[in-house]
Amino acid sequence: MNKYIYNIILLVIAFLLLPLNANAFIVVIDPGHGGKDYGALGVKAKEKDINLSVALLLGDMIKNDLKDTKVVYTRNSDKFLSLRERADIANKVSGDLFISIHTNSIAKKAKNRKTISGASVYTLGLHKTEENLEVAKRENSVIELENDYSTSYSGFDPNSSESYIIFELNQNKHIDQSIEFASAVQDEFIHTANRKDRGVRQAGFLVLAATSMPSILVELDFICNPTQEKFLNSKSGQKKLATAIFNALKKYANKYNKTIVTNTNNTEITSTPKQTKEIKINDIEYKIQFLTSSNIINKKDKRLKGLNPVEFYKENNIYKYTYGSTASWDKALSILNEIKAKFPEAFIVKFKDGKRIK
Ligand SMILES: [Zn+2]
Repeated sequence: MNKYIYNIILLVIAFLLLPLNANAFIVVIDPGHGGKDYGALGVKAKEKDINLSVALLLGDMIKNDLKDTKVVYTRNSDKFLSLRERADIANKVSGDLFISIHTNSIAKKAKNRKTISGASVYTLGLHKTEENLEVAKRENSVIELENDYSTSYSGFDPNSSESYIIFELNQNKHIDQSIEFASAVQDEFIHTANRKDRGVRQAGFLVLAATSMPSILVELDFICNPTQEKFLNSKSGQKKLATAIFNALKKYANKYNKTIVTNTNNTEITSTPKQTKEIKINDIEYKIQFLTSSNIINKKDKRLKGLNPVEFYKENNIYKYTYGSTASWDKALSILNEIKAKFPEAFIVKFKDGKRIK
């Protein structure tokens, strides 16, 4: 093709895409569970329905009030979706923020099952308490309803506490923004929706680990407590909860939705949460950790899913497998994105002079 015509076509395409990329702040709303996956159950209500109602109300508020913000739902009807599919939707649209909406519950035999109450907002990390681990286990265990979950989540066992060690070292570059947004939502849950404060917490949620943007998971309140179930299942309760998230989002989006800033060289650069961090370090090496094992794995082991070449280092008698090596944080991120399709819980680890550092 004539080079001149080719360049013109490229320019036209770039102009057509420009408004889509530059202006919209994209919020991905993820109502937990759906279809055959009911989530936690109350006497009458199902978690999947409460999550969806609050999600749709929140989406409507955003569409009506925040013109520069685009809403993408992982589901807007009663259907089953894998955790991977939810994260894929968010990553594909390059979301600026991911909000997973859930309703809490505790074990049937727990003595305080009918009295426990309160809202909490989670970000990805290692649980500090057994209670937080239990919440992550319950929410992650939905992968057991997926076909072939043990291969799609590289052997992650949602019910085994040991699996959760991978979240200990999770270096998520969006963690500061995630916590900032989580705190704002928690604050609104208390003051706007009058929920009891159970705080901002961390735990290893697969759906958060697989999204590459600031992300939170909210537990609205406890469906196992009949009083809270009533609130959660009422239109007015759902409206209060959606308003709470909306208020926090409005502040957050206003802060991060300033797309154009001018730097000292007078060239325009975009400044959104998507902007990658620049880190200048010597002798630092980034690798992508994607798997741990109590013994050395054969190169052809199917757990490696054909990834080659791989390396490992040993820590606390556990072999930790890594892929790739680069001195550039940006490059590490793009390698991470590449292999996240196969290993959603993969994360970046940092080495100095061949030794793992934190
Ligand atoms: Zn849930």
